[in-house]
Amino acid sequence: MKEPIDAAARRAQPPVICYPVETLPDPDMGLYLTARQTLRKIDEVVIPARDARCFTVPAGHYFRITSVDGPQVGDLNIWARDNLSEHFYSGKTRALHGTHVTSGHRLWSSFPYLRPLATITHDTLDWYGKDEFGGSVHDVIGTRCDPYTHALLSGQPYHHCCHSNLTRALALYRDMPPKQAETHIHDVLNVFMCTGFTRDTGQYFMKASPVRPDDYLEFFAETDLLGALSACPGGDCSTEHSSDVATCYPLLVEILAPDAATLKTWTPAAPSSYDRTHGCDL
Ligand SMILES: [Zn+2]
Repeated sequence: MKEPIDAAARRAQPPVICYPVETLPDPDMGLYLTARQTLRKIDEVVIPARDARCFTVPAGHYFRITSVDGPQVGDLNIWARDNLSEHFYSGKTRALHGTHVTSGHRLWSSFPYLRPLATITHDTLDWYGKDEFGGSVHDVIGTRCDPYTHALLSGQPYHHCCHSNLTRALALYRDMPPKQAETHIHDVLNVFMCTGFTRDTGQYFMKASPVRPDDYLEFFAETDLLGALSACPGGDCSTEHSSDVATCYPLLVEILAPDAATLKTWTPAAPSSYDRTHGCDL
């Protein structure tokens, strides 16, 4: 189409932040940082390469995802432990905090709950910022690698995409049929993954993750949580995923308990106060 004569003026309109976060309740980072000085490990789970495992985190505890052996990205799902219909909502987390998350950001839950499931309390990769390609770390813009898109694009089956890994892990952990478990798998937080959108075509890109062994991302559980983490078959995501080509490494999840006295003033997050009538008279 031919440009209208006022095209330049229309393009020059300034952007407006969709969700100004000035009224978003701030996490009490001082409290979390004091409590994390007292952490002691109570459990750990090793996530094998190209596979996933589940773990539980009691409310008021921390969990830490650590790179071990080599650069590896992880696809994270989180649910309220006793209600799988409340799960991490990647899209709304993106709308509130931006395309990538770091310390001080929260992982928000699905409707009708919309409360923080977890708060990020430490990120050893926070120095990375945004690179010259517009890439950054720990994204909430990707979905999760899955066998359906892979079949669509390649015509080939592959059973170790993160979607399938997470499905198997949840099916095993909660003793449910894989097809039932699959319905609970949702869009992920891409831990350690370095991604962005290309400036010319707006396509989702990935590049070699800057993560190195001992780097970690740490969370505070705002309620009782069930987590599932997949060590993505993309490895550090420098080449391709959904195949056995990339070099892959395990990931470590540690569950950490703070001294309870440090959390005296903390209370678990409450679900949204919205009444759910949606304007109906019924
Ligand atoms: Zn993946």
